[in-house]
Amino acid sequence: MVAIDGPAASGKGSLAHRLGDALGLPVLDTGLLYRAVADVVMRQGGDLSDEAACVVAARAVDIQALDPARLRTGAMGEAASRVAAHPPVREALIKAQRDFAAQAPGAVLDGRDIGTVIVPEAQAKLYVTASAEARATRRWLERQAAGETVDFETILADIRRRDARDSGRAVAPLAAAADAVLLDTTDLSIDAAFDAARRIVEAARARVKAD
Ligand code: C5P
Repeated sequence: MVAIDGPAASGKGSLAHRLGDALGLPVLDTGLLYRAVADVVMRQGGDLSDEAACVVAARAVDIQALDPARLRTGAMGEAASRVAAHPPVREALIKAQRDFAAQAPGAVLDGRDIGTVIVPEAQAKLYVTASAEARATRRWLERQAAGETVDFETILADIRRRDARDSGRAVAPLAAAADAVLLDTTDLSIDAAFDAARRIVEAARARVKAD
């Protein structure tokens, strides 16, 4: 089981998918769960600060029916980070994540609290990070390529706000597990980051086998 944590736009999602392909393991982008909760609450005209409404939505999330195309917008990321700060929402999403992680022959999960809370016993733990400027530049380039007109400073401010909320919340804050290997992708291409991630995961798996 591979646990990948890190802040928004650190590259952890791409790494999770490439590792999943290379290892033949299914991948769960756990951010989609929080995004799905926010999506349901907003579609119902609810308020993201309404903890009870968010919990009802969280209990109904179907892990098989997540729609990444709909959920992976900047606005949904911000909304997800607000619902993710409600402790009972996190609690309601734990079982689905642990069940996914427990399947044979293993799985790759990426998020903010995978190595610390969801699967602290994971064989391989990676904490993927990059400077806020590098992450904002990646997001800006993605949006430009998608034909959106976006202001770099706005994206950078969004990333900083989300980092502060995710790191500052009381329950399951964004943090590297004590036994996670840190991978800073600020100056790495996607290919170089993947090579490094793969080496880290292979070394961790070899260590577990040798024990
Ligand atoms: O990873 P992604 O940007 O899709 O996550 C959206 C938001 O969901 C994050 O900013 C974070 O607040 C929340 N999240 C979380 N725990 C996870 C995954 C995501 O709190 N395991």
